[in-house]
Amino acid sequence: MERREELREIAGQLRRYLDDLAAFEGRQFPLPPSVGEAKRPPAAAAALAEFRRQICECTCCPLGKSRKNFVFGSGSPEADIMFIGEAPGAEEDRQGLPFVGAAGQLLTKIIEAMQLQREDVFICNVLKCRPPNNRDPQPGEIESCEPYLKRQIQIVRPRIICTLGRFATQALLKTSESMGRLRGRLHEYEGTPVIATYHPAALLRNPQWKRATWEDMKKLRLEYDGVVL
Ligand code: SF4
Repeated sequence: MERREELREIAGQLRRYLDDLAAFEGRQFPLPPSVGEAKRPPAAAAALAEFRRQICECTCCPLGKSRKNFVFGSGSPEADIMFIGEAPGAEEDRQGLPFVGAAGQLLTKIIEAMQLQREDVFICNVLKCRPPNNRDPQPGEIESCEPYLKRQIQIVRPRIICTLGRFATQALLKTSESMGRLRGRLHEYEGTPVIATYHPAALLRNPQWKRATWEDMKKLRLEYDGVVL
């Protein structure tokens, strides 16, 4: 009898795991009516556009000389959720848009699995210009570019931030802790809740981290508006 109970419990766990995977792979859900409603004046769009105009020629660090395109960020200027990665890659540098390569497509899938659309959120990076050969951002580059991110957050005023990967998380939270320690708990950036998860590019290299990432996204959605995924 006990054995049967045990098997039933295992079957239940497996069912929940498969449901999570199905959602993560892009199953579509209807958007709750409250999500996506504008909550701030249209001034945010104008302020963001003006700020972009002011900084798009920046050469405050050496990356300003090597970039093809400045990558400001994209999405709703009134977004409740802001995703922050580390820096543009080759495809982003070519197009001048964030998260448009393979990792970006995975991020779009994740957002859709959260019952949201990419246009509902704002997506940007700590660095606005691509480090050559996708090398790691250097401390001086992060220091030079970070005020731009700070201003973007002030304009968009997200209700929750999701940092993607170690560099973005450490830069925003001013910590040197590992992702292993930073994941799985709620942080705060100037009064805004922050959830840290793996960078989608890391998920492409380590698919076994997708499950943990999906757990982070479930937490994010729950914290954001109480929706249980
Ligand atoms: S990475 Fe940031 S600080 Fe460096 S040149 Fe680009 S916009 Fe300016």
